[in-house]
Amino acid sequence: PRPGAELLRATGLRKRFGGVLAVDGVGLTVKAGEIVGLIGPNGAGKSTTFDLLCGVIPPCGGDGVLLGQPLRRAAPRRLAAAGLARSFQTVHLVPGLTVFENVLLGTHLRGRAGVLRGMLGLDQREEAVLHAEAWRQIDRVGLTPYAHRIACQLPLGRRRLVEIARALCLDPAVLLLDEPAAGLRPRDRAELMDLLDDLRRDGLGLVLVEHDMDFVMRLTDRLVVMNFGTELAQGTPREIRRNPAVIEAYLGG
Ligand code: ADP
Ligand code: MG
Repeated sequence: PRPGAELLRATGLRKRFGGVLAVDGVGLTVKAGEIVGLIGPNGAGKSTTFDLLCGVIPPCGGDGVLLGQPLRRAAPRRLAAAGLARSFQTVHLVPGLTVFENVLLGTHLRGRAGVLRGMLGLDQREEAVLHAEAWRQIDRVGLTPYAHRIACQLPLGRRRLVEIARALCLDPAVLLLDEPAAGLRPRDRAELMDLLDDLRRDGLGLVLVEHDMDFVMRLTDRLVVMNFGTELAQGTPREIRRNPAVIEAYLGG
């Protein structure tokens, strides 16, 4: 997609869990080459919004469009093939596998070559293409020196990068990242910020849930603020910082 093209648009998303309205009328758009921050206090409904966007759970209301295709009722795999990838709040890596092997799993989720086919074995030429793609993404996130280390034994900052490399193997147009900077040391956080900046320059659309306000305010182009499942405000970091409703509910003055 050309820079500035709309990649993802969701409107009026709603999700109820029993008596809890976890998400109540949230909308969000992401353009190519843009980083959108989704912020709000714990329990505001940010992770649930991600789950709705990537089709892990069905919405009670609202809808979305990804690259011109309706999100509704689309299976997560179809969405992945259509250009949406995500990382989770807690790192999901396969124990006992190396960085390279974990990232390679991402290529097996891509397109027609499913995980099952990956396990059954591809022909050598296909396999070579997928290996090259895994190496390319490992290099992109700066993990080449760690490629043969057991992923789960690496420090948190590097494990996060493994997850991002694996998601990038899907060749997504839009990448959803749930608290990627949480628990990172300052140096790892700065490295992550550079990486996300590079991805933006490459034309990806990124949506970021993040509690680290310094990280969010410095990196994002636009913010969506949630509170108790509802959308409290949208705007640039500058606008959000000055928004009285946001200051009262969230930033705490
Ligand atoms: P955030 O990511 O902003 O901290 P969540 O989206 O995880 O918030 O949660 C929003 C609300 O929905 C919370 O009140 C949470 O307890 C509730 N919730 C989330 N997932 C479930 C679930 N699977 N079942 C029941 N309630 C849930
Ligand atoms: Mg969450």
